[in-house]
Amino acid sequence: MPQVSSKEFGKIEGKTVELYTLANDSGAKAEIITLGGTLVSLYMPDKNGKFNDIVLGFDNLEQYLKESPYFGANIGRAANRIAGGRFTLEGKEYQLAVNNGPNALHGGEEGFNMKIWDAEGFTSGGSACLKLTYTSPDGEENYPGEMNVEAVYSLTGSNELKIDFKASCDKTTIVNLTHHSYFNLAGHNSGKIYDHSLKIEADQYTPVDENLIPIGELKSVEGTIFDFRKAKRIGEDAEKAAKDYTSGFDHNFVLNNPENQYGLAASVYEPKSGRKMDVYTNQPGLQFYAANFVENLKGKDGAFYNPHCGLCLEPQKFPNAVNTPNFASPVLKPGEVYKHSISYSFSTE
Ligand code: BGC
Repeated sequence: MPQVSSKEFGKIEGKTVELYTLANDSGAKAEIITLGGTLVSLYMPDKNGKFNDIVLGFDNLEQYLKESPYFGANIGRAANRIAGGRFTLEGKEYQLAVNNGPNALHGGEEGFNMKIWDAEGFTSGGSACLKLTYTSPDGEENYPGEMNVEAVYSLTGSNELKIDFKASCDKTTIVNLTHHSYFNLAGHNSGKIYDHSLKIEADQYTPVDENLIPIGELKSVEGTIFDFRKAKRIGEDAEKAAKDYTSGFDHNFVLNNPENQYGLAASVYEPKSGRKMDVYTNQPGLQFYAANFVENLKGKDGAFYNPHCGLCLEPQKFPNAVNTPNFASPVLKPGEVYKHSISYSFSTE
């Protein structure tokens, strides 16, 4: 039988942050805290049946509040970058906090990753589930409208971790949620991810300027370091990526799936452990970020995390879509429901 349990992880100004453990029949386990719906650990078997924790994280609330590079968090209202933190909706200009060079990043000073969400654990069929909800007030982080958001985590009996997001609002606003786990399939404390091989189901990517804002073009990956159409060792072009593109892979890929259609986005394989992860989504874009800016961070179990010790595969709409007419729009209107499903599906080879 799948199991769900909870205990206190810490307190913020008297409010308890809970840690929920979802466990399935085969011994896989996901631990999620109600701060940001953050996945703090994920235990999956290797080819010999040995379980390791394969996401980077901290063992205390303090660090999640003060120094987390969005480890394991749900990001919103708007993931990734918005140029100048500015956009116009229905003739009105909005200015968000500029918290990343000249741009807005990942929902602002206190995005959804910094909020305590309401939680309800349950089981459904062979899955252990957690439903998280949060109401973002009108004007929070300068976004218009009240937004109700929901994230349902399901750990299935077949070692799949699914996240189903929903959002609705009472005024025209923007939304672009994602999940920001840093994976290392060899185990979270295994150093660089260069030996992982990565395949991305994308014939194109969105080239960026020096501030990582897409220039608006969809460019073929052919003949570039962004060609992951066939599985490629991440280390192969990582140094080149670091030299030519502000410290490494940190780019959005244009998924081949027709928009809004749920399908395979990427596959990652780590040869020593034999672990494989397939990522599915119904979003048009996938940000591949190779933990370029993670520097000497003290993590769980005495780990120290450094550049390229994990990889994020973040399904989303393209960065700065609100200001780029030819990108799928992140605008959400009253009466509409935003639906975004992600699956991180694990197996061994
Ligand atoms: C972005 C990176 C950013 C990181 C923050 C990623 O989603 O693409 O540029 O530094 O998040 O941890």
